[in-house]
Amino acid sequence: MKWSEVVDSGPMGGCFWCGTSVSQKPVYALGGRFRQGVEHPPDQDEGYLVQLAVSENTDSAEFRWMWAIVAGSQSEAKKHGKDLLFMLCSEECGEELREVLRAELESFDAIM
Ligand SMILES: [Zn+2]
Repeated sequence: MKWSEVVDSGPMGGCFWCGTSVSQKPVYALGGRFRQGVEHPPDQDEGYLVQLAVSENTDSAEFRWMWAIVAGSQSEAKKHGKDLLFMLCSEECGEELREVLRAELESFDAIM
C-alpha cells in the first residue's frame, strides 16, 4: 500500500472512489481494518486525509490515486475496529473498492 498525506485540499462533496458529487445523495461509508503486516499510514489522535495508490488489477503495475481517511486514535470508527474510512456515492463503488483493497483491509464493511 502506498500513500501520501494530504495537507490542504480534500475531496469535498465527492465520492472518494469515482469522484461523483454526493451533495444531493445519501453518502455511503465504508470502514476497514489493516491486515496484519500491511504497511500503513501512522495513527494520530485526529483523523486525517491521505491519498492511497491502489491497483485496480493485480496483474497490472498501474496505480490509481484515491482518497481515504485515517481514523483518529480516539474516534468512534477506531473503537469499532476501523482504521481507514471511505465516503462513497453508492454501494457499487463500495463493491469495487472492496475488490481492489481486499489484500490490504479486513473487516471492510459499511459503517453508515
Ligand atoms: Zn462513487
